[in-house]
Amino acid sequence: MKTRLRKTLILAACLVIIFELTVLGMRHLRAYTLRANVVLILLDTVRADRLGCYGNSEGLTPNIDRFAEDSVRFEYAYSHAPWTLPSVASLYTSRHPMKHGAGGDINSFTILPDSAQTLAEILRDAGAKTAAVVNVSFLTKTFGLHQGFGTMNVGREVGNEVCRTADQTTDAALTWLSQNGKKRFFLVVHYFDPHLIYDPPKEYRMRFADAVDRDTEGTLFGSRQQMLAFRSGKLKLDEPLVRRLEKLHNAEIAFVDAQIGRLLSTLAEMKISDETVIVITSDHGEEFWDHGGFEHGHTLYHELLHVPLILHIPSGVDTRSIELKGKTVSLPLRHIDVAPTLCQLVGLETPDDFDGMAIDITSPDTEPTRPVLAQGNMWGPAGVSYQYDGHKVIQEASPGSTLLFDITDDPMETRDISQASPELTEKMVSLMNRLLDEQRHANAETDKALLTETEKERLRSLGYMK
Ligand SMILES: [Zn+2]
Repeated sequence: MKTRLRKTLILAACLVIIFELTVLGMRHLRAYTLRANVVLILLDTVRADRLGCYGNSEGLTPNIDRFAEDSVRFEYAYSHAPWTLPSVASLYTSRHPMKHGAGGDINSFTILPDSAQTLAEILRDAGAKTAAVVNVSFLTKTFGLHQGFGTMNVGREVGNEVCRTADQTTDAALTWLSQNGKKRFFLVVHYFDPHLIYDPPKEYRMRFADAVDRDTEGTLFGSRQQMLAFRSGKLKLDEPLVRRLEKLHNAEIAFVDAQIGRLLSTLAEMKISDETVIVITSDHGEEFWDHGGFEHGHTLYHELLHVPLILHIPSGVDTRSIELKGKTVSLPLRHIDVAPTLCQLVGLETPDDFDGMAIDITSPDTEPTRPVLAQGNMWGPAGVSYQYDGHKVIQEASPGSTLLFDITDDPMETRDISQASPELTEKMVSLMNRLLDEQRHANAETDKALLTETEKERLRSLGYMK
């Protein structure tokens, strides 16, 4: 009996070893099935109209503009929320904010549940090395946005003043690439500098700030405490001050652009860009008195949701990309469409539970218009907006505040036509509610995940929570 038992145990052990080797072998093989690396350059707080390739004339982004000449640029790209956490969670999961569950508001943040499937997990499981170089808590393990990243390289933060600037962020990304760039990889590089507090380096301050702010040092306005006071009405801002702040913000963008230029040129020198799909986008925009307000996370207007989106596909990955160089696509593209498009480009099937759809880059303008749903306000209470076929409806949380805009004639959303077009308003609200109901139903099946008391306390001490 003992001999038979020993033989059975040996056989079982051999089977386990064979199984493990097969799984490892499959993983190894799958590593070579990924057609390309992916680099996602994530700007924080940069609306599309700051970039030269989106019509800005101030010369803030020469490097990104050059990159766009060699890439596909999406003229109308949209995020799904006006602040970082729900927006980036949608980008990572290809799910609308109500469905992925990450967000909430400043009184009660919710985190991305473990059950969520992220682009990083998909690429990691397909054999890629994965890393995120990020500079704000919302993109870390605290909020569940670490899922799928083998390396989380997080800049130290104090309130919303980040200690790691764009040059240091590029350094961190290049260090990781020098160690991992020879294998298939997925890398996220997040630049926080254009977010409050605006404190650009001297060179950029001298070039872009108002004369009164050129020789100064430190910050004009924007600590978390000042923002809390502003939002509660205890502290007033006026337009002249907001204009000065805007110029400092622009100077931060110019600084980030220079550092993105350094990242891109080093990728080319390392011969990595020949087999790397590169995306540049932003999580949301920034309001500079466009609708009488400042900053982000409290409205769903164009200046908050219209973001840059530029996609570079090297010819080694897809030969058709040569014809696409410098192409501008006018079909609205949503952040939820980015992950499926990337999956398709690197040769992976799109998971069934993605809300977004891959875009056919060769004939995008023949595809049907996609509705754009956005939700959530960090400063609460949450509103919702829905854009489709040339119109956009915004419904604030308080009853009766439904706005309708003709975004073809009035892209900056300055003239509410809801009173003049009640039937169209009703139709848009009904379409929006139908999509919301689908989200709500799916959300009922999602795990609800909240911050722990310890995390809340830590975030309060950083000035993140009330
Ligand atoms: Zn952000």
